[in-house]
Order: sequence, then C-alpha cells, then structure tokens
Amino acid sequence: TVARLRPFGSTIFAEMTELAVRHDAVNLGQGFPDTDGPAGMLEVARAAIADGLNQYPPGRGMPVLRQAIADDRARRFGTAYDPATEILVTVGATEAISAAVLGLVEPDQEVVLIEPYYDSYAAAIALAGARRRTARLVPDGDRFVLDLDSLRAALTSKTRMLMINSPHNPTGAVLDRADLTAIAELAVEHDLLVLADEVYEHLVYDGTEHISISTLPGMRERTVVVSSAAKTFNVTGWKIGWACAPAPLLDGVLAAKQFLTFVGGGPFQPAVAYAINEESDWVLAQRAGLADKRTRLSRALRDTGFTVSASDGGYFVCADIRALGADDGLAFCRELPARLGVAAVPVSVFADRPADWKHLVRFTFSKRDETIDEGIRRLRADT
Ligand code: PMP
Ligand code: GLN
Repeated sequence: TVARLRPFGSTIFAEMTELAVRHDAVNLGQGFPDTDGPAGMLEVARAAIADGLNQYPPGRGMPVLRQAIADDRARRFGTAYDPATEILVTVGATEAISAAVLGLVEPDQEVVLIEPYYDSYAAAIALAGARRRTARLVPDGDRFVLDLDSLRAALTSKTRMLMINSPHNPTGAVLDRADLTAIAELAVEHDLLVLADEVYEHLVYDGTEHISISTLPGMRERTVVVSSAAKTFNVTGWKIGWACAPAPLLDGVLAAKQFLTFVGGGPFQPAVAYAINEESDWVLAQRAGLADKRTRLSRALRDTGFTVSASDGGYFVCADIRALGADDGLAFCRELPARLGVAAVPVSVFADRPADWKHLVRFTFSKRDETIDEGIRRLRADT
C-alpha cells in the first residue's frame, strides 16, 4: 500500500461489521437498513434487467435519472440544474466525493473538513495528494453545533474546498440557516468551492428543515451538491449517487469519474428515477418511521445508562459512555460484539483530534424495531 493511504488502514465499517458477523452481533454500527425500499422501485430494477438494460449506461448517467434528479431539486428547492450538463450519476455518493476532490483540487491545495467527518473525505483528499485541515462541531446543550471560529481558523490562502455534511453523520446535527449563511459568506469571501454532502437530505425529524447551501446567495456557482439513493430508498448496495453543480465544476468531477469507474449501476438507474418521481409518499413515511426509531433507540440507550445527544436527522445517535464507567469508545466498540453481541462505531475514528471524541459511540437506528429492541436487550444484560 502506498504511503499516502497507509494511515487509513481498513474502514471502521469493515472492521466493526466483520466483528458483528463473527460474533453474530446485532449490527447497530454500520448505517444500512434491514428492510427493502419501495416495491415498485424494486420491480422497475427487475424489469430493467429482464429487458436487457445490462450494458454500459451513458457516461453522465441515464437521461431519465438525470431528469428526475433535476425535477426533484427544482420542486423542492426551486433551483434549476440542466440535466444535460449539470448532473452526473456516480457509483454512490462515495465516488462523487472522491471524483470531486480528484477533479477540482490541486495537490498543493487544502480542503477543510468539519470534525467529526465521514471517513471517506480524508481518504479522498489523500488520494488526490491534497491536504486537509479541520474545523469542528462542539456540544451545545444536548446537540452538536458548528464552531464557526474553528472554521475561520482552518482557512488559509491555500484552501480550495470546504466539505459540509448536513444532516450529519455521525452526530445527527442539522445545520440551520444561520450556520449555512455564515459558511456561505466565508466561502464567497475566500472564493472557495463547497462540497455539500446531502445524502441524508430527506431524513430530518420533528419539523427540522433541510436547507441546501446551494440555494443561498452566491453559492450555486461554487457548490457541488452530492446525494445518493442509498439512504432515501433503502438501497445502500445499489451504489447510485449523483453530483449537481454548474457545468464548469461538474466537468472537473466528470474528468475524474470517467477514469474511476467510467459508469455504473445500469439497471438500477431507471429504478431510482422511478422512485424519485413516484415514491415521495414512501419517503415521507420512511422519514416519520425513522423519527420514531430515533426516539425509541435514544430513550432505550438513556434508560440503559448512556448519555445520548439529540439527533435531528440522518441515521445515527451519539452516546457518551462515561456514565457507564468507560471512556475509550474505540476499545469499547472493539470488545462489544464479543462481550454483549452488539456492534457500534467509535466516533473518534472520524476525527483528526480523536481525544475530543474518545468518549462517544455511534449507534444507528436505521433498523427494524425488533432489531433495535434486541440490541438494547443485549446491552442491558450487562448494565
Ligand atoms: N456521505 C455520508 C455522510 C454517508 O453517511 C455515506 C454512507 N452512506 C456516504 C456519503 C456514502 O454514500 P454512498 O453509499 O451512496 O456511497
Ligand atoms: N454510511 C454508512 C455509515 O456511516 C456506511 C458506509 C460504509 O459502510 N462505507 O455507517
């Protein structure tokens, strides 16, 4: 393995899911659902395979999917993206993120991340030979909020891109209009690109609003919006993601993407297009169901002794293990599958200053109620 990838080892998801499988543990670690998405969508995928849609799709993605993505963003945010030049279908959001960095950031430039950050961001920056700096979220009551001063401090004359993720993995924080406005003002002032990872855009709870930073003044022209079908339609294995950006930026993303995978997911593309166009009621029901699961898991973890922070969106809650007499989340998660038959993910692996996050463990509530309840039953066996 080359030096620039060596620090990353294997992903925490691979490690914890491997432990979960080995110990037959309830997997509340890796964020994926254990139920299928809308039946009509699955049928479209089956039909696409039966109808022979099994060869390379177009380089930018099937027109039907690009049109569906454009229509959806126009409907929800009032923003117009030209499906011919401003939307690119990728192999999951993961590829869109890597291609955006590889295609838009020079090796001597810097990318600013906000800790804790999704693990692939740092690896993508390393692949591109670029450098990262980090700002951070900080606790505020029982939520995590952006520390704007840390963001200002992370910006230098070499900063090219800022990556944000809202709703947030792992904290469940959702950036509000004030924070997004402040970020947008900094981006304009420093002439930065912003990569907005919106993979959990539909999963916001209790009336929380998802605002796309691309809709704020001066931002459409400098934002690459990244999203994915994975979490919206319960198809994490299909790896259908996308990027939306003005044509000159999207050309950079495509320049890299074409040599990473060229194309991907042919028969799944019309199925995701169908789901975006026709299954908005399913998505609303899914959101309501996930809000209930968030409450179910949070309450049960609190009753078990953890201190649990509020989660306003996404798939995850963060639990403080200190009240249980533990303080090292990584060690805690490494032994949990064997000890109690439950898997979770330590938050410290998402940070450059792991000490700040050492006491936090991430649990996902993207599972059937029975799965959540069985996980809790096992955790209680010990506490
Ligand atoms: N960004 C975040 C914040 C995520 O949690 C994930 C994992 N779903 C991804 C990107 C990757 O998405 P995909 O599975 O579509 O590649
Ligand atoms: N996004 C999911 C998570 O954070 C899983 C991603 C993965 O397994 N690479 O758990």
